[in-house]
Amino acid sequence: MDGMAWIGQFWLTTLTWLIGLAAAFGLLARLMPCNPGMYWWKYRRGAITDAVYWLVVPLVLRVLSTLMLAAGIVFLRGGQRPHWLPAQGWPLWQQCMAILLLQDVLLYWIHRLFHRDGAWRFHAVHHSATVLDWTSTARFHPVNHLLAFSLADVVVLLLGFGPEALVVLAPFNLLYSAMVHANLNWTFGPLRFLFASPVFHRWHHTMREEGIDKNFAATFPILDVVFGTFHMPRGRLPDEFGNGEADFPEGFWGQFLHPFRSDDVSPQARRRTRVIRVASILGLAGLLCGGTYGTLRLAEQDRQQTDAAQQHRHEQRARHASELSQAAKASPLESPVFCKK
Ligand SMILES: [Zn+2]
Ligand SMILES: [Zn+2]
Repeated sequence: MDGMAWIGQFWLTTLTWLIGLAAAFGLLARLMPCNPGMYWWKYRRGAITDAVYWLVVPLVLRVLSTLMLAAGIVFLRGGQRPHWLPAQGWPLWQQCMAILLLQDVLLYWIHRLFHRDGAWRFHAVHHSATVLDWTSTARFHPVNHLLAFSLADVVVLLLGFGPEALVVLAPFNLLYSAMVHANLNWTFGPLRFLFASPVFHRWHHTMREEGIDKNFAATFPILDVVFGTFHMPRGRLPDEFGNGEADFPEGFWGQFLHPFRSDDVSPQARRRTRVIRVASILGLAGLLCGGTYGTLRLAEQDRQQTDAAQQHRHEQRARHASELSQAAKASPLESPVFCKK
């Protein structure tokens, strides 16, 4: 598929999803709201920013994720197809369950790390929505997305899971993420410790002190119970959402550049900003160089394998023809050609 067709297909699929999610969660939020009156369409600037995160950012991330995977295969696996685990032989549903569990543990700790000091600047973008609705699902700084979700996908592929398991899980993950961000008062009652609910994740987004650094799990809150970060008080619902920065940029480019800027003039803050800039530039350069090298090397490997297979087929045909001709010379009536009848 060429580039434009790929982009067109991506936009068509995403727009179909957006229409479906808007209809489903729009109706449900009318019937069972967590925060009555809080709807994404009432905050136009935020909705336009979220549209960029849904429709444009994933295109860039898809390319960068592919480069990350190619670099991983070449530098960690020496160009060999990943098989650290014999997972590709497992039934698809078992692979999906294992990936869900594995990625939830990985993403829990990555999420916790993104709530600390320098990394928070990137994650603050996700927490910037003051009108919290399902549309906030995609609002992640590209650096945050790459080092969390893209990395988690690359890790399971390098471990040996089949890409088809990720393809099967993608719609579930999208729907589940949209659901936990939707403006719904669902707590899941007795299952609140097993499955993340909208109320569980909205407590994570609250600016109120009691919800700060709580409820990091994406799907299974039992992780928060085990690691002491679970917070879901009975009979109360979260409100007051945002990242605590009153003048946080509302547009995409302002949010994209925000982690690399600092209004704080203290030497410590300026030094930290410089470190973030240098680390980001080096990280991006490393990803582009390593990913391009990996992609070229894998393409060359594929070309060599195709050539070898063609050569093998050619030799087999030549050997078969030679055997036929020898058989025909030895005894024309018993040659395989005549035996066919
Ligand atoms: Zn967070
Ligand atoms: Zn969230």
